[in-house]
Amino acid sequence: MADTKFQLKLLVDNEAKKVLFAEAGKEIADFLCYLLSLPVGTIARLLEKNMVGCLGNLYESIKGLSETYMQPNQNKNSLLNPKSPISSTEIPLLLSDHEFESRKVYLCDYCNSNVADNPKIVCPSCNRKMTREVPYITASSKSVGTSTAAVGEGGFVRGVVTYMIMDNLVLKPMSTISSITLLNKFNVKDVRTLEEKVVDFGIEEGVKLLKASLECKNVLTSVFLSSIEPQKSSS
Ligand SMILES: [Zn+2]
Repeated sequence: MADTKFQLKLLVDNEAKKVLFAEAGKEIADFLCYLLSLPVGTIARLLEKNMVGCLGNLYESIKGLSETYMQPNQNKNSLLNPKSPISSTEIPLLLSDHEFESRKVYLCDYCNSNVADNPKIVCPSCNRKMTREVPYITASSKSVGTSTAAVGEGGFVRGVVTYMIMDNLVLKPMSTISSITLLNKFNVKDVRTLEEKVVDFGIEEGVKLLKASLECKNVLTSVFLSSIEPQKSSS
C-alpha cells in the first residue's frame, strides 16, 4: 500500500516554466479532499522539521513532555498520532499507517447506555469503567449491510469524472471549454510551448504536495518542476 502510485497528467508551459494544470482521476482528487480532514498533529508529524511556522516546535515539546504531566485519562499519543475524524479506509493514498487500524469504541458493559473512545472513561450513568470493545462502523466499513448504491464507491468524489487541479490546488471537474478558456487566461500565445507530462503520484509526492500547499501558491510547479523556485504566498 505504501508504494501505491497513480498517474497525474500535467500540462506544462515550457516557456513560462510552470505547470498550468493537472488532470487527475478519482484517487488523487480523493487524496486532496483527504488533506482537509487531517488533524494539525498529523501534519506536524508528517512534515517533521520541515513544518513551516511554530507548530513543529509545539509538536516536539509535547513529544518530549513527561507523561506525568498528562491527565490520567489522556495520553500523549492522542496528540502526537491523532486519528483523522474521517474514516478513510477507501483512500488509496494514505499518509500514515495508523489509519489502517479500525477505530475502536468502548461500551459500558453494565448498563449498555454509553459508548466512549477510551476504555479509561467512567460511565456517567452507572459509574463503572467502559471496557467492552465494540467495532465502530462507518459508511465505508466493509461489513456494513447497506446496499452498495447507498454506500457508493468509497472515498469522497465520484469516479466517472476527470478532475482538473490548478497549480494553486483549486480542484474542479475537467471540461474542454474551461481548458481552452484557461489557455487564454494564462496568455499562452504559442501552444507549441505546451507539453503534456505524465508523472507518478505516490505517498512521497503527497507529502511534498502537503508541504508545498502550506508554503506557496504554485504547488504543482514546485513539486513536479523541482528546479523552479516556489513563489511565496505573499506575492
Ligand atoms: Zn454504565
